[in-house]
Amino acid sequence: MQPIEVWKAIPGYEGMYEVSDMGRVRGTDRTRTRINRWGREESFRVRGKVLKNSLSNVGYYRVSLHKNDGSGGIQAFVHHLVMLAFVGNRPQDMKHIRHLNGNPLDNRLDNLVYGTPSENAYDRVRHGTFRTRYADKTHCDEGHPYVFSHAKGYRHCPVCVKEREAERCKQSAIRFREFVYNTESEVWLPVVGYEGLYSVSDQGRVRSERRGVVMSPGIRGCTPYIIICVGGKQRQKPISHLVAEAFLGASPATQRISHFNGDSVDNRAENISVSNKRR
Ligand SMILES: [Zn+2]
Repeated sequence: MQPIEVWKAIPGYEGMYEVSDMGRVRGTDRTRTRINRWGREESFRVRGKVLKNSLSNVGYYRVSLHKNDGSGGIQAFVHHLVMLAFVGNRPQDMKHIRHLNGNPLDNRLDNLVYGTPSENAYDRVRHGTFRTRYADKTHCDEGHPYVFSHAKGYRHCPVCVKEREAERCKQSAIRFREFVYNTESEVWLPVVGYEGLYSVSDQGRVRSERRGVVMSPGIRGCTPYIIICVGGKQRQKPISHLVAEAFLGASPATQRISHFNGDSVDNRAENISVSNKRR
């Protein structure tokens, strides 16, 4: 026979959220309010449902709670909520919540008890989970699982790395759109290999000689590029490479092209640095 799941209101969030003795959290059917874009308050119905847990970086489940007016949004550990609702506030000297069977994701009331720091440390030794704080970390601060990178030799979060990279490129695209070229004493040279067809300037602009216009560049990742079209074939060329070839005599196939100020959208000749690739 299935035991009956008992639900109790979460203190401070009565009428909004409940937690069960099985370690689940649910929102109740309720009316919430928000300020609409005309500055007026409007209400909307929210259907109650069991909340999804997210895994915190310290290896416990947590949920996000919001009050009906949108205020008081918090991230709460599920085991805290279970104890708060079923047992009450933790006693002064009992700073920890012990997971008796050693599974930090098992938030059934039966598995939880308030404990002192020393009891908690003892549990961790007993369960074989007593390690340093860093070694304990299985997830990043956003709750994504760490992945061991053999190339890097350490663990990292590929999701966050990707997100940071995407954000960096977004910022680059904005800077590139707003980049101010000094066109007063701009110097133009033929694009190496495309003489008479395309020119590139010391400001990092590219001109089509056939059409007599400055071309509009694109940006891919954080790298501004131009599409060069010859004999019906299109080639996507990083602008930094064209500048390096024309103004610095570099050969991007064998040399490393980078930017002195670290900004990949600043392709002025004076900002381009050429070095030999490491073997
Ligand atoms: Zn992450």
